[in-house]
Amino acid sequence: MPQVPFVIDTDRPVLVTGATGYVAGWIVKGLLEAGATVHAPVRDPDNADKVAHLTAIAETAPGTLKLFKADLLQPGSYAEAMTGCGVVFHTASPFTTTVTDPQKELIDPAVQGTRNVLEEANKTESVSRVVLTSSCAAIYTDAIDAVNAPGGVITEEIWNSTASLDHQPYSLSKTLAERAAWEIADAQDRWKLVVINPSLVIGPSLQKSPTSESFNIVQMLAGGAMKMGAPKIGIGLVDVRDLAQAHLAAGFLPEAHGRNIISAHNSDFLAMAEALQDDFGDDYALPKRAMPKWLVWLAGPSQGISRKFVKRNVNVPWRADNSKGKRELGVSYRPLKESMVDMMDKMIADGAFKA
Ligand code: NAP
Repeated sequence: MPQVPFVIDTDRPVLVTGATGYVAGWIVKGLLEAGATVHAPVRDPDNADKVAHLTAIAETAPGTLKLFKADLLQPGSYAEAMTGCGVVFHTASPFTTTVTDPQKELIDPAVQGTRNVLEEANKTESVSRVVLTSSCAAIYTDAIDAVNAPGGVITEEIWNSTASLDHQPYSLSKTLAERAAWEIADAQDRWKLVVINPSLVIGPSLQKSPTSESFNIVQMLAGGAMKMGAPKIGIGLVDVRDLAQAHLAAGFLPEAHGRNIISAHNSDFLAMAEALQDDFGDDYALPKRAMPKWLVWLAGPSQGISRKFVKRNVNVPWRADNSKGKRELGVSYRPLKESMVDMMDKMIADGAFKA
């Protein structure tokens, strides 16, 4: 039971962009279980593999799922799906670090997509609120940015000023997209924008083959790639189920407002592996120690990790102030071990670690 109770309004349909995604899946589940009608625009509604987990939930939940076809890069693409909706959750945005053309693969869909969805909200009278899934990446690029923040802690007051097309372009995509969202929201007064800024999301996926970058990290930790040691990259972590609850509060709590850091643990890569040791240490080559920074510095470039990244992240602690989300959205967080073990169990069940 959340500390700050809220009621999911089931009178009007709710739009969830990127409904096939890892984070969105749990938001859709929460809405369907509350009895809401969910409009789910996806790039390919006929791809049964991508939507199977959503249609399966809809079969037993009291709510109703309606799939639509839409693409972030096509103007007007969300018009049909948004018709009659009261709350819009805009989660769709590419989350990957392996790109060859960051402008085309990350920035354009993130920024044009946000403009596309929010401008549609301007044209849709029924919309009263838009919840944007931004990121802590719109606040900081590297762990050193948190060290350099006032008091060594990132807060909702801070904007990312260090990401670029050449360095951590995903963070740039989230920063530019959130800035575009505030610009559009501030130019009108019919609907309210509430922004969620999650740290790295962990925990079980609802779908079988998640594409979110979160799974690549756990794959590296448990798949043996880091058995000699994990770089202690300072990072924040949050469970996908707690994050979904934060989104629902942001959508339906009347007082929800502004940016909201949603992050449970000030952590690092080694701590993620350590949380798996008791349950999986005998069967998986999990790292047991930190890889020395000089070694990451030497080996990094051959693994696609730049020396700038190593310098600014390895052995650098990361701290965020998560008090606003707890206080105003009533978010509570489960322990790191529970999130990591549930995520790993699901990945194993899905065959993510084939011999
Ligand atoms: P995900 O599973 O990869 O989901 C991303 C979604 O975006 C997918 O449903 C994808 O739809 C959709 N998408 C991508 N490009 C699109 C396009 N051109 N048109 C329409 N839809 C498009 O990633 P996720 O982790 O759930 O991320 C969801 C949101 O949370 C993103 O905004 C991400 O930046 C944010 N976030 C994630 C994390 C994290 O650690 N996972 C942390 C902070 C913030 P398709 O099914 O059609 O590919």
